[in-house]
Amino acid sequence: MRKPNKPARENISPSDLTFALSTCKRCLWVKYWYKVSAPMVMPLVGTLSRLQEEFFQNADMPTIDPSLRPGKVTKWSEFVKSKPIQINGMDTRWRILGKYDLLSTNDDGTAGLIDCKVSESERDSGAFYSPQLEAYAYALENPPAGKSVEVASMGLLVWKPTHTLGDNPENSGFGIYQKYVAVPRNQAEFLRVISELISVLEGELPEAGPQCETCNFLTSRNALDLL
Ligand code: SF4
Repeated sequence: MRKPNKPARENISPSDLTFALSTCKRCLWVKYWYKVSAPMVMPLVGTLSRLQEEFFQNADMPTIDPSLRPGKVTKWSEFVKSKPIQINGMDTRWRILGKYDLLSTNDDGTAGLIDCKVSESERDSGAFYSPQLEAYAYALENPPAGKSVEVASMGLLVWKPTHTLGDNPENSGFGIYQKYVAVPRNQAEFLRVISELISVLEGELPEAGPQCETCNFLTSRNALDLL
């Protein structure tokens, strides 16, 4: 495949540091050089995230988890962009651009980042999401202009649906088990992962992953020669 002179997008989504990089690098490469992504069907995800985020707007941080510094959730669903990412002391063409879920302003002037999840997946561990949260922290601490904000804490706020509530159609729903999963700062690991992603993007088109159901479907379908 011919590589264009310039990528179609130079802003890296924080979520690409988790799911996309850990599955197949080929679709990731196509996404940035050609701005073509596979359609994703995730019914209810947007609605559940919005409801969960709304629930925590203006919340006191220690009521979310006693380990958190005193402060309040003051911002939500805002885009953050970084200056060019530096690898080995050199500017690259790539920047971070993404929308965090919740951000606190702490009494000591630092900030706390929280990523909301409605999920029962065992994968909701701090280690898996660390590079994604670090990417938001990188953008907050390395903005293209203006004052940087020190991120003192990062974590996942997980709602796991466990039971039903209510006794009539107007007043019923799901009950949840809530847990806060602290994600320790790990800038070294973030720099390792983002370096790997940038070297994938700057390289030639990677091979497809043999385990991907989408690519296997497309290969089988194309072999039918229907069109
Ligand atoms: S295997 Fe194919 S469809 Fe699946 S992620 Fe890779 S390139 Fe994309």
